[in-house]
Amino acid sequence: MFQKILIANRGEIAARVIATARRMGIATVAVHSDADAQALHVTLADEAVRIGPAPVAESYLNGQAIIAAALRTGAEAIHPGYGFLSENPAFVEAVEAAGLTFIGPPASAIRAMGLKDAAKRLMEAAGVPVVPGYHGPDQDPARLAREAQAIGYPVLIKARAGGGGKGMRLVEDPAAFPAALESAAREAQASFGDPACLIEKYISSPRHIEVQVFADTQGTTVHLFERDCSLQRRHQKVIEEAPAPGMTDPVRTAMTQAAIQAARSIGYRGAGTVEFIADGSGPLREDGFWFMEMNTRLQVEHPVSEAITGLDFVELQLRVAAGEPLPFAQGDLQIDGHAIEARLYAEDAERGFLPATGRLTHLAFPPATAFRRGPVRVDAGVRAGDEITPWYDPMIAKVIAHAPDRTTALTLLGQTLDATRIAGSTTNLAFLAALTRHPDVQTGKVDTGLIARDLAALTARLPLPPETSALAALAALDLLDPPTGADPWDTLTGWRGWSNAESFVTLDHRGEDHALKIEHLGQRRFRVSAGADTTALTLLASTGDLRFETDGLIRSAGVAQTADTITVFLNGQSFGFHAVLPQGETGHADSGDAISAPMPGLVAKLHTTPGATVTKGDPLVVLEAMKMEHILTAPRDGRIAEVLVAEGDQVADGTTLVRLEGEDA
Ligand code: ADP
Ligand code: ADP
Ligand code: MG
Repeated sequence: MFQKILIANRGEIAARVIATARRMGIATVAVHSDADAQALHVTLADEAVRIGPAPVAESYLNGQAIIAAALRTGAEAIHPGYGFLSENPAFVEAVEAAGLTFIGPPASAIRAMGLKDAAKRLMEAAGVPVVPGYHGPDQDPARLAREAQAIGYPVLIKARAGGGGKGMRLVEDPAAFPAALESAAREAQASFGDPACLIEKYISSPRHIEVQVFADTQGTTVHLFERDCSLQRRHQKVIEEAPAPGMTDPVRTAMTQAAIQAARSIGYRGAGTVEFIADGSGPLREDGFWFMEMNTRLQVEHPVSEAITGLDFVELQLRVAAGEPLPFAQGDLQIDGHAIEARLYAEDAERGFLPATGRLTHLAFPPATAFRRGPVRVDAGVRAGDEITPWYDPMIAKVIAHAPDRTTALTLLGQTLDATRIAGSTTNLAFLAALTRHPDVQTGKVDTGLIARDLAALTARLPLPPETSALAALAALDLLDPPTGADPWDTLTGWRGWSNAESFVTLDHRGEDHALKIEHLGQRRFRVSAGADTTALTLLASTGDLRFETDGLIRSAGVAQTADTITVFLNGQSFGFHAVLPQGETGHADSGDAISAPMPGLVAKLHTTPGATVTKGDPLVVLEAMKMEHILTAPRDGRIAEVLVAEGDQVADGTTLVRLEGEDA
């Protein structure tokens, strides 16, 4: 076995690989960009090497710097994680040329599966059912349109070099085909440097079911059952589970044998996933699934398969890479219960899942044991206090629940999401929790269109419970903490023992002001009014969470407070408030003079320079976010004092981009 390995990745997957290496007594080396110098994975590893500046092209995709880091630290092998260089055959060859071991498949196997069209031709030859379609080399639009006609609409246009759901277009009507092809090819060229596309029959009511495979160098190839990843948004996975709902023994046998056949036909080694699309319009059928692609790496959603098999896939990867045989035969494996994973992201579900950034001032999961078998597992890539930057994938954590049956696992997952408390960034927690309670998810009637069909309900904004703003008001006035010490005078001064003293506070919640009057009734009893609405609330003694009583009902809540925000956690939801300063006391004398980014994005164009004279409405900065351009204009006439960014800069939400000279300057 290796003495020391380098992990060429960041975030949760780097942390997850380090955990297994540590358990096996293997030393670990992390690599990091400048943006990640203090990141979790760096602090977990025994050693860490800086590999470059924040942009991935100069750091996590910089194969030469990563190999140099391994050689310098004496690491014998490189684990690529997922994404980044994990499916780059040239990197594998460079690693091997440097005398190091790549913990993954041979370069030839990655290459064989690298392009979807070639992979489908190979699979067809190996006798694996593939999605009917055209995957030949001719890219003449007229030819492709004829092929689409022959396949029969609806069809799916796919970039052959695609990944992560990019470069895909569903076409339902032949008239829309030429434009869809053009835009798919353009996106493919921009994202993957290869415009070539294939055409597939669009499978209706599609379910995404994939098979985990493992192969060693002794010639053993096994499968570790299937996962259902049908809960997707824009072809990207959101919730994954194992086993697949409604799977039968005959279909499982057919699917897993096809996957093993696929892996064998390309001389596979290590962990891999064969993805199938299945017809979900009725019960699963032996002739109702087709090969889509093979991912030649460990998959994001591998923990659900670990949960139901009791195996550590990173340990298996390390053993296979070190030349050891797989420590079991196919017949030794069986499914234990059901596991479901949710991907927790810093993103704004209500605003079209815009990636969010920010410092996670509060991050607390309910008690869970990471990387171990237990009812709930949390694989996190960040800690409380860490910042989600626009540089990388905004994943916060994966939450995995495992139980004897699917219903219990789903309930457990929902409860865990409810009990997870995050402040400092918008997250998809509420959306994920709503998904676990969706009636079709509960009955296992999943298909890849489910989320889109019910998006409005799944992302509906929740009403603000009045006791939430009441608790926030008490927090703003510092009235939540019980009096310290037994001195009765403390109690009197801290708690205003006199009757019916009043305080006033205005809180902003999602851009709306809430003016609140707080009456102190003594004995930690308060009456909080917002206009005519009144909440009578008593704070109770407690050790952990905040306990309070309203109208005879005792409940728990959490409150996280920073200098300018108060987050109240109640009923599995979080509500953020800002204290609004009284009129005439605005914090910044120059507010209105600073033009700041309304969302994280890329400075695509600067239309101004320091000293320039501008008129209200003049375009100053073009910010690119979510592939859309946002033009930021001058808020008033004036002169530009400072331009604080350059074209090409990635900026966080709220970053000041340009500053106008003061009105009287
Ligand atoms: P799949 O499991 O089908 O590959 P994923 O959503 O897991 O789908 O990943 C989509 C693509 O993005 C994959 O190529 C994956 O390797 C990459 N990816 C996903 N998450 C990350 C991440 N946190 N860092 C880097 N790459 C990632
Ligand atoms: P990527 O490399 O982006 O992961 P895939 O080929 O795996 O591309 O497809 C991504 C997703 O698109 C699948 O998980 C599935 O939801 C959907 N999809 C792909 N092919 C088809 C098809 N032929 N019919 C219906 N849906 C499909
Ligand atoms: Mg895929």
